[in-house]
Amino acid sequence: MTVRVLASCTACGACLVTCPERVLHRAPGRPRVEDDRCTDCLACIEICPVDAIQAVPSSPGDGS
Ligand code: SF4
Ligand code: SF4
Repeated sequence: MTVRVLASCTACGACLVTCPERVLHRAPGRPRVEDDRCTDCLACIEICPVDAIQAVPSSPGDGS
């Protein structure tokens, strides 16, 4: 699994400081996720005030 940030993100930054792995990075518009290092802890989904983060299956063949 990994997560993706939807267009409804308001760029509040809460998820960036919440991610224990620090794999969410500031990027133009909305945060970028370093997919291969996301541990699927879902902390970012819980903290997002506008429900702009979704859990999604990882790409096929990545072993997870
Ligand atoms: S699921 Fe956890 S590890 Fe992955 S981006 Fe969100 S807070 Fe970070
Ligand atoms: S917590 Fe939600 S609204 Fe805030 S930057 Fe992260 S994805 Fe965007």
